Amino acid sequence: MDKPSSSATSPSVNLDVTSNFDRFFKNFKRESKIISEDQIQLIENHLKNKDTQEALSVISDAVRDIENAPLNIAVTGESGAGKSTFINALRGLGHEEEGSAATGAVETTMERTPYQHPKFPRVTIWDLPGIGSTTFKPENYLTEMKFQEYDFFIIISATRFKENDAQLAKAIAKMNLNFYFVRTKVDNDISNEQRSKPKSFNKESVLQRIRDDSLRHLCEALCRNPPVFLVSSFDVADYDFPQLQSTLLSELPAHKRHIFMLSLQSVTEDAINLKRDSLKQKVYLEALKSGLIATLPLGGMYIDDNMEETLNLYRSYFGLDHGSLKNIAKDFNMSVNDLEAYIKSPHLLREVQDKTFLEKLWENVEFVSSITGGPISSGLYLGKTYILQSYFLDTAASDAKALLNKKELFAKKLGSLRSNTRKYWETIME
Ligand code: GDP
Repeated sequence: MDKPSSSATSPSVNLDVTSNFDRFFKNFKRESKIISEDQIQLIENHLKNKDTQEALSVISDAVRDIENAPLNIAVTGESGAGKSTFINALRGLGHEEEGSAATGAVETTMERTPYQHPKFPRVTIWDLPGIGSTTFKPENYLTEMKFQEYDFFIIISATRFKENDAQLAKAIAKMNLNFYFVRTKVDNDISNEQRSKPKSFNKESVLQRIRDDSLRHLCEALCRNPPVFLVSSFDVADYDFPQLQSTLLSELPAHKRHIFMLSLQSVTEDAINLKRDSLKQKVYLEALKSGLIATLPLGGMYIDDNMEETLNLYRSYFGLDHGSLKNIAKDFNMSVNDLEAYIKSPHLLREVQDKTFLEKLWENVEFVSSITGGPISSGLYLGKTYILQSYFLDTAASDAKALLNKKELFAKKLGSLRSNTRKYWETIME
């Protein structure tokens, strides 16, 4: 954060900051806010009452909780149901990549196995042996598997859910924890049906049938209709995978949402928006914290010496780091330079290295107001670092979306190129 102007403590600025704070958090839906409504209200009241020290204390606690929150996800289901593949999908790893959970292996262990997220070590996904392959009753199973350590359970099946899945869910609910039923491999069901009944095939009715069938057993045991998410771990942008992620997000405590949103793969526009919004809230809270500190006697000033590192980290969160771009370029048979022509963040990063760039941004009053969502005085409070980071987050998010759309286009182009080449060779061989 940069040196605040002397006007930062004037009553009009204080008013601006309070209303700016209120406006800022109204931009986000409840389920994607990274601090709770109670905390927002508390900060707002302290700001209104000009009680800087108290506002600062709530903001600092909130930022600390967000930064330290661990996330532990338990995945349980019988061997072969697709647990390892699902865990790899949550971790954004292909099953041939280093560190991925071994797929297709017959389960022999009765122990839980932890898998850390490759980019976010605070996220651990636990592979639990299916309850059916143990001799435990649901309560004992949960004690053995250390149920109190998880934020929620995912119960997986590739066929119908069984009585013991339902009993397990009941026992989890008794412990006041959340559980979600996930029916995997629906892509298989779809392609089998399409192949066997090409004339009458209807994707939606196949999915509905699987849903009804999955629910039939569960609602008898649970006396209600639990949601069942139909997924393909090979296509996390399709079927119910995105809905599963948004449901998990909305049911997590606010301070855990940030790390969960960051861990999502940038495979849908919604996931990209969530990531952007989550990071923007974090950047805003940090900026406000430094702005408030700077107004206190002996308050220090926060200067981001590692701006480049921070921006590079943001690129990696959106899959725009050099390594990811290299992989995408390779997949589509093009150079990284050619790929970079479609996006702005790598160029922006180069511009940031020129120190006058930040000054130029800052001098643009309209631009500053559009980023801070209010008059320039709120911008003074939030500082240049905030302006630049917010701008970069918007750019990175729109780049990630542009690449998402381009990938479809490139894939089509590559597909037609390959089929034309094949046709060409077929004609020559005739
Ligand atoms: P686990 O024993 O429960 O860990 O099951 P795995 O993840 O090893 O999966 C068993 C087999 O099912 C492997 O051959 C996977 O490739 C396959 N599989 C898992 N999930 C899916 C899916 O969503 N769709 C398809 N088509 N195959 C899957």
